[in-house]
Amino acid sequence: MKPLPNLKIENAIVIGYEGPHTITIQNQFITDVSPSIKTPAQTTAQTTAQTTAQTTINAGGKLVIPGLIDPHLHLDKAFLLEQYPAQKGTFQEALEETFRLKSGFTIEDIQTRAKRVLDNAIAFGVSAIRSHVEVDPVLQLTSIKALLPLKQAYAQRLTLQLAIFAQEGITNQPGTEAMLRETMSMGGDVIGSAPYTDPNPQQNIRIVFDIAQQFNCDIDFHLDFLDDDAPLLLPFVAQETIRRGWQHRVCLGHMTRLAGLLPAELQAMGTLLREAGISILALPASDLYMMARQDTHNVRRGVAPVDRLMAMGVNCAIATNNIQNLFTPFGDGDPLKICTLIAQALQLGTTAHHQQCLAMATTQAAQAIGIHQHSIAPGNIADLVILSAQSVSEAIGAAPIDRTTIKNGQIVAQTHLQRTLT
Ligand SMILES: [Zn+2]
Repeated sequence: MKPLPNLKIENAIVIGYEGPHTITIQNQFITDVSPSIKTPAQTTAQTTAQTTAQTTINAGGKLVIPGLIDPHLHLDKAFLLEQYPAQKGTFQEALEETFRLKSGFTIEDIQTRAKRVLDNAIAFGVSAIRSHVEVDPVLQLTSIKALLPLKQAYAQRLTLQLAIFAQEGITNQPGTEAMLRETMSMGGDVIGSAPYTDPNPQQNIRIVFDIAQQFNCDIDFHLDFLDDDAPLLLPFVAQETIRRGWQHRVCLGHMTRLAGLLPAELQAMGTLLREAGISILALPASDLYMMARQDTHNVRRGVAPVDRLMAMGVNCAIATNNIQNLFTPFGDGDPLKICTLIAQALQLGTTAHHQQCLAMATTQAAQAIGIHQHSIAPGNIADLVILSAQSVSEAIGAAPIDRTTIKNGQIVAQTHLQRTLT
């Protein structure tokens, strides 16, 4: 393969490094992170490196972060609000109308909506997305047929993981299990389901683990969603994870029920999660909107308490989930805005908290979906974003518009605000 042009980012603020630093990228890897102000002895080395670097960016004291990661997104259900605006705004309407809309999905329709999301994501600085791919008797293989070509088409600019997803249940939907296996054979990366939609959730979970073992892939469940008194499925998933040796390969989204646990109960779940090496994803844009609908006053938030779980040693992250559909009528797919939202929902106000929020949209999100060494350090792949902010708190305080996205050591997007005041 032809070597890629080299890149150097000078005067960058990098989390964990004191003062402005220069990030050197050769081929697609970070080869050096050094203070931008050099001693005379080091100047020679820097000059040599500069002669081979074809592009130099002066970050001018701006923050450079690892590429944003969106570990839980539904590309096939994005922007559905344009096809059906909410009439009631209820959970029941979202379920019924989304199911109805699915029968009208075509490959072209899914691709058109998904491309809007992916193009925006690249500009926001997203370097990887795990998208769920619905498989059920209505949609059958339409979604995977739409998204597989996009995975290839976008590969140089964004890593797209396809998580095959039985949204409507497995044991109650004849033929679904066979379709899940067929979809995995076509090129699915990850297997998952929503056990709460299945009359036999434990059997649903067992089938997903069986498929994961057959295809040697990671698992992603929508689990313990809603805020009723149904028993938690988490202990069963943790037990299966350990029994099958699937530690550090299971990721659970929503987990809204955890928000309602007493501290001692949450501590027990945290211990279980840590032992099983399971990652938890909070999806605040959806869950703040959908949870606690029966509350008449003092409405609960219903967001997984990822701050408390992290303190127990659990790997936690945040994600977009849906973009402008009946389950989440808001959002644009920018993980930085989800950082702001989780900080507001969980009341995380200190500098250290803000760094945790950003880690949940970068390094920890990468870990949750099996992407390793996703940080700014020599030897790692150069997936980076230059933000128009000087600190993490500033970036989370108001997500900056101006960004430069670097994927595999190459600039893949640059966004600049042009404003005219009269
Ligand atoms: Zn989801």
